[in-house]
Amino acid sequence: MKANMQKKRVNIVWLKRDLRFSDHEPLALADKAELPIILLYIFEPMLLDDPHYSERHWRFVTESLMEMNAQLTRKISVAHAEACSTFKYLLEVYKVEGVYSHQETGLANTFTRDRNVAALLKENRIPWHESQTGAVIRPCNDRSEWDARWKSHMRAQLIHNNTERLNIELVDFDTSSLPRTWLLSDSSMQKGGSCQALLVLEDFFDKRGKAYQKSISKPQESRISCSRMSPYLAWGNISLRQMYQQLSQHSSRPGWRRSLTALLSRLHWHCHFVQKFESESSMQFKHINRGYQSLPYRDDSSSAKDLNAWKEGVTGYPLVDASMRCLIKTGYLNFRMRAMLVSFLTHHLQIDWRRGVEHLASVFLDFDPGIHYPQFQMQAGVTGINTIRIYNPTKQAKEHDSDGEFIRAWCQELAELPNTLLFEPWLLTPMEELMYGVTLGVDYPVRIVDIKDTYKETSKRLWAWRDRSDVKREAERILERHVR
Ligand SMILES: Cc1cc2nc3c(=O)[nH]c(=O)nc-3n(C[C@H](O)[C@H](O)[C@H](O)COP(=O)(O)OP(=O)(O)OC[C@H]3O[C@@H](n4cnc5c(N)ncnc54)[C@H](O)[C@@H]3O)c2cc1C
Repeated sequence: MKANMQKKRVNIVWLKRDLRFSDHEPLALADKAELPIILLYIFEPMLLDDPHYSERHWRFVTESLMEMNAQLTRKISVAHAEACSTFKYLLEVYKVEGVYSHQETGLANTFTRDRNVAALLKENRIPWHESQTGAVIRPCNDRSEWDARWKSHMRAQLIHNNTERLNIELVDFDTSSLPRTWLLSDSSMQKGGSCQALLVLEDFFDKRGKAYQKSISKPQESRISCSRMSPYLAWGNISLRQMYQQLSQHSSRPGWRRSLTALLSRLHWHCHFVQKFESESSMQFKHINRGYQSLPYRDDSSSAKDLNAWKEGVTGYPLVDASMRCLIKTGYLNFRMRAMLVSFLTHHLQIDWRRGVEHLASVFLDFDPGIHYPQFQMQAGVTGINTIRIYNPTKQAKEHDSDGEFIRAWCQELAELPNTLLFEPWLLTPMEELMYGVTLGVDYPVRIVDIKDTYKETSKRLWAWRDRSDVKREAERILERHVR
């Protein structure tokens, strides 16, 4: 090991879910220190093996890093090892003066990893400067000023970094065992990178967004009219503040008011949900409302079969199946269909949300623990503070996919059916099966439950639980803690 005297002095900027240069405070702070900077990204086996993640996420990260590299003369140092061992190695080779990163509101494993990295750095007397991510405050014990702070963060000046003048130190880690398949693009998914993010946003404000409010609930139209910024925000190709400020520039456009107001609320929700998870991260494992602790779910062997049918998009309910298949193939689904999938799992199949939460995370390209867990629990009806919504997938299909375009695209075996049967294929008579060439149980699955029965049962159960005193007590605590 070299003596400290001979080691080169450097700062480290640890990139996590902030894969961009603009509006990046850690990079600006490290740059100010005028030492060579190691721009570090770590592919951690702990996360690569985590069931919340799948190849699509690592491909998106790889694309983002490649795009960042294209702006640099010396590249980002990419490691393939656990974070602590990567830092230990860097401390052996360099005289590290400081580590800079954004705070991460992540899963329990990244929280523990951060604690271990913090202990290692502290032991070596190296300061770790963690910048706030968006408007999410750590710690946040009082939400009364939160809205005002959100606004002032979003309106503050963006941080500019000049990549040309960065003094970068490149570390050559061994990454030969990382899968090469991440380098192959997948044209059915959104591609990672800040330039991509800006293009998609520009296109939204140029034309797509005008119909945002009108199309937001429709599985097909929303693919065009929603911003589609979620993966770029989740992986930090763009900051929420950058998006907010672009939105503000368009705020008085004639004919856009409703759409832009709706989008603005959602940018606010983004941080509101992440803040909830930041303040109560045990909701990765437990119902946020402890009153529901013993809420019974199915646990028999047929529930495992039904869970698999849900995961694979073969439940026999066309909109549920189309949504899941679309998600598996493209990584994207609009909000309402996501909510419907969770409702189907937890209400109609009566399966514990914890058995489905990782699957959806692994197929959402925009998986963000801070939004995913609070949303999942809300749709599963276990918060005690939100309206209980038991979605009827047939009604949703008739209302939001009225011409059947979305279902026909993803359940092609049903494409020949007229709409009445497309939405309710269990009504096919033997004669119609012959006419349309669709045999239930052969070409398309027989439905695994009858939602008329499950609706009644679940509704009775959920409302009875909602009335329990322990659920109500917990609801008060949640409101006090998380709602201003
Ligand atoms: C069960 C469930 C799980 C979800 N998991 C995630 C997740 O892991 N990651 C994720 O980014 N979103 C998640 N959402 C929220 C929402 O569905 C997506 O953010 C949205 O569909 C993304 O599409 P968009 O970028 O076109 O959104 P737009 O409607 O254009 O909204 C712009 C941005 O606002 C934020 N936003 C929009 N809707 C919500 C919302 N309801 N709650 C919080 N933030 C919102 C997102 O950052 C989004 O990119 C989940 C919703 C449900 C019901």
